[in-house]
Amino acid sequence: MEYEVIIGLEVHVELLTESKLFCKCPNRFTAEAKANSYTCEVCLGFPGALPLLNREAVQKALTAAVALNCEIALHSYFDRKHYFYPDMPKGYQISQYYVPLGRNGYLEVEDDSGELKKIRIGRVHMEEDAGKLVHAPAGLDSAVDYNRAGVPLIEIVTEPDLRSAGECRRYLEQLKSILQYAEVSDCKMEEGSLRCDANVSLRPRGSSILGHKTELKNMNSFKAVEKAVEYEIERQAQILRQGGTVIPQTRRWEEGKQVTVAMRDKLQTPDYRCFTDPELAPVELTAAEVEAARRSLPEMASQRAARYVAEYALPPYDAAVLTATRALSDYFEACLKLYPNPKEVSNWVMGDFSAHLSAAGMEPAEAPFTPEYMASLLQMIDEQVISGKIAKEVMEKSFATGKSPRAIVEEEGLLQISDQSELEKIVEQVIAANSSAVESYRSGKTKALGFLVGQVMQATKGKANPGLVNKLLLEKLQQ
Ligand code: ADP
Ligand code: MG
Ligand code: ZN
Repeated sequence: MEYEVIIGLEVHVELLTESKLFCKCPNRFTAEAKANSYTCEVCLGFPGALPLLNREAVQKALTAAVALNCEIALHSYFDRKHYFYPDMPKGYQISQYYVPLGRNGYLEVEDDSGELKKIRIGRVHMEEDAGKLVHAPAGLDSAVDYNRAGVPLIEIVTEPDLRSAGECRRYLEQLKSILQYAEVSDCKMEEGSLRCDANVSLRPRGSSILGHKTELKNMNSFKAVEKAVEYEIERQAQILRQGGTVIPQTRRWEEGKQVTVAMRDKLQTPDYRCFTDPELAPVELTAAEVEAARRSLPEMASQRAARYVAEYALPPYDAAVLTATRALSDYFEACLKLYPNPKEVSNWVMGDFSAHLSAAGMEPAEAPFTPEYMASLLQMIDEQVISGKIAKEVMEKSFATGKSPRAIVEEEGLLQISDQSELEKIVEQVIAANSSAVESYRSGKTKALGFLVGQVMQATKGKANPGLVNKLLLEKLQQ
């Protein structure tokens, strides 16, 4: 029997706000922060402490919901969802259970044959994050860190519209791009600011009834989501082919073994005893606020890429690479303002600049090599102050030291040698020292010229003006 794959994704995203969802504790703590140092009586759940809604979080959630083409609830509110877990000090999570902020949205994603299809987004709602358990080695006590407790999240839940592991990956890439461009979240899966659970089931092709699903957790990258879903499709297909039934379960992806393993059975939905939080006012929005949020959405990656092709005549490949993240695209545009030659800037941003960034594990905005530095480096090449080869060295040194390209060129004496008489002397020396290459050139093997140019460049440590070297060599060789 042939089976159809059915997948729905639940994605949690941490919002890029200054403070937590219901208190003034900072949200932007780092992994190195001391455990429990970003906490107060509200996010620690002390009895009697009153939560106060962070409007910036509502604004970011609203931006996300309109960017995902949702209908917005002008009146929504928060519920308490009860269950016990040590990383959740109140014994309940504050979430939007009954009325989510956004509904009926969608994202357009390519299916496996490259056709665009709509993945429906059933709901986008706000909720608070839990803390983190820090598991100690066997025999020692585990600890809990509440720094993350109360951080604002949105949960984005699709309808069961995805049909393959590849569609899941493309959906996540598209979602991440949109949320990054809209500055809602940095969506770093490795750091936990984007987390994804995948619900997978199979059914006989042609059937309209959904089969039993399993929910996959613990994937730490988009690649892992793709792998886990592929594995699970195959596991379920084998069970069904043998006449068995899939047990509804939560399963954990084991990255080391590349398998999913059962965590717990999910035979009935737990009763969370949800009710409206009596301590929080409803979330009221006006139609004008929703409209304003729609209008202030930024230009997204695909639109930017199209503009780079149309306005700057860049190859579609360049446009796609440059707009892969908003941060890189913003950097490219900042360079272009100072040095308006799109293809030249594109080459350097995609090439050496990106290589240094990833080697240093930096974001474009953190790079010591600023757009001002890029512009002055490219100007020095134009002015024939340095060669393209030296420019690469200068960029590397600038990344390492933070010094400006002009300072590096001056301090290290990297100025291009364009002085005719100085170069002439070196050319003569090279000719004298390489008589066999000179012979073979004169006997018609013009390839030898490249070798001789290389020798001059070596003698000058790459500083010779290559055009001038060629010209001088040809003159001397023809004498
Ligand atoms: P649960 O109550 O188990 O959390 P939900 O109805 O809230 O289930 O759905 C959670 C996610 O699972 C949604 O993305 C939904 O589209 C998806 N989903 C629901 N049923 C199935 C199914 N049979 N197969 C695959 N995905 C499903
Ligand atoms: Mg669910
Ligand atoms: Zn707090």
